[in-house]
Amino acid sequence: MLVRLMYASRAVATVDQDALIAILRKSQANNPGAGITGVLCFSEGVFLQVLEGGRSAVNRLYHRIATDPRHDDVELLCYEEIGERRFAGWSMGQVNLSRLNPALLLKYSERPVLDPYAVSGRVSMSLFEELMATASIVGQP
Ligand code: FAD
Repeated sequence: MLVRLMYASRAVATVDQDALIAILRKSQANNPGAGITGVLCFSEGVFLQVLEGGRSAVNRLYHRIATDPRHDDVELLCYEEIGERRFAGWSMGQVNLSRLNPALLLKYSERPVLDPYAVSGRVSMSLFEELMATASIVGQP
C-alpha cells in the first residue's frame, strides 16, 4: 500500500544552506532503507516536501519530521493512497532553485513567490510535477 504525503513548514531562523544540506544528506541516508522517495524544496524560509512510500513508513517519517525543531508551522497539504510513485527516482531530490523562476510561480499563484500556505495542495503538487518534467529536480537516486 503506497501513499503520497505533502506538507509545508517554515524554517527556524538558524536554518541556512549548510543546515539544508545536512537535512538532505540525512534524508538520502535514511530514506532508501525505509523505501521512501520524494522531493524537498526550500525557498525563502519555506519548506515544501513530498514523501512517497509505504503507508506506515511515510506516517512514521512524517511524525518524526513534524517534531523536528529546525522548522515549525508544519501543515499537511495532501495525503493520498497511490497506485504508483511519481518521484521514484529520488531518495530525496532537491528542487534546483534557479529553475524556480517567477513565471513558473506565477503560473500557479497570485504572486511570484513560493507560498504553499496560500494555494491548494493540488496547485503545489502541479508545481512539483512541472519541476520534474523540466528536469529541475536534482539529487541522488
Ligand atoms: P539522528 O540524525 O541521529 O538525530 C537524533 C535526534 O536529533 C532526532 O530527534 C533529530 O531530529 C535531532 N537532530 C539531529 N540533527 C539536528 C539538528 N541539526 N538540529 C536539531 N535537531 C537535530 N529525515 C529523514 O530521514 N528523511 C527525510 O526525508 C527528512 N526530511 C526532512 C525535511 C525537513 C524539512 C526537516 C526539517 C527534517 C527532515 N528530516 C528527514 C530529518 C528528521 O526530522 C529527523 O531529524 C531525522 O529523520 C532523524 O534521523 P535519525 O533517526 O537518523 O536520528
